[in-house]
Amino acid sequence: MTRFTQPHEESAGTEAAPLGEKAFLQAVIDAIPGAFYVVDEQGYFVRWNRAAQELVGAPDERMPRTRVLDAIFEEDRALIANLFREALAKDYAETEARVAHAETRWRFLTARRVDIAGKAYLVGTGLDVTERKKLEHELEHQARTDFLTGIPNRRHFLNLADLELARARRYARPFSMLMLDLDLFKNINDRYGHLTGDLTLQKVVEVCGQILREVDVVGRLGGEEFGIILPETDAAKALQVADRVRQAVANASIPLPNGGSVGITTSVGVATYSEADPDFDAVLARADRALYEAKRSGRDRVSSEGESSAA
Ligand code: GH3
Ligand code: MG
Ligand code: MG
Repeated sequence: MTRFTQPHEESAGTEAAPLGEKAFLQAVIDAIPGAFYVVDEQGYFVRWNRAAQELVGAPDERMPRTRVLDAIFEEDRALIANLFREALAKDYAETEARVAHAETRWRFLTARRVDIAGKAYLVGTGLDVTERKKLEHELEHQARTDFLTGIPNRRHFLNLADLELARARRYARPFSMLMLDLDLFKNINDRYGHLTGDLTLQKVVEVCGQILREVDVVGRLGGEEFGIILPETDAAKALQVADRVRQAVANASIPLPNGGSVGITTSVGVATYSEADPDFDAVLARADRALYEAKRSGRDRVSSEGESSAA
């Protein structure tokens, strides 16, 4: 533990070398865990510790002409502007923002208003919370992702579909969805084991990824059932995509532990968003009915809402 001589005890000189008041205070603020700063109302540095200066990366003489904002990751600058506004108005505020340095790091930043000789300042600290942020992001990712296949799970898929529906409605754009259910998948598990079943699910996702565009979203709706969001895709185009997916799955081969390989087919239901749909559930229900129709009429085929109602 570092011990500093109290200024009024300087004459005693029994502990560390005597320090002037200024040097003493600087030593104290340099020892504050994390970055410490005092800025004026415009956000320019008035006092700072070494950690804050390292974050900013400016020499002593340039610090007073430097703003905290200059050290903040561009996308997060609005957060800091807000932090300062809020602290000036309510005396205290805090936020988490990314600091732009060699490597982007997260900081938990505080700001407290202090009025000295008729002038307002903000005093605050910035603690590095990068490791916790990484963990948070990892947990959020896990909560959205299907563990086996790495694609969005049902809940996340439905959220993305809701967003797509809102976008389609706002801009009066088409959008369609496919619902896939692997055919007689239970047989794969029964004959070749659960591991090959898992491999099959992964293969289907891989094959879809190869066929689809970057903007399309494949999600696992459950078991051996997948959903695919096709933005900017009308009913006719969706049918074409559905058949390409169906063929690609049928052509894929899944390696078996003994060296052979096995194939799988899928049935596909197609539904296209219409203005009359109150929400995505309505589209999903039609895709589900179309899928049922594809199963009923023999599997390894595509059925659309229009076709199934005509059948
Ligand atoms: P259908 O053509 O009518 O869809 O027949 P099916 O056999 O595919 O349908 P069913 O719903 O009877 O079987 C689905 C099977 O999927 C049953 C279940 O054990 C299996 N399954 C679900 N999730 C997983 C998984 O994560 N891994 C593996 N290996 N199997 C799974
Ligand atoms: Mg099923
Ligand atoms: Mg099935």
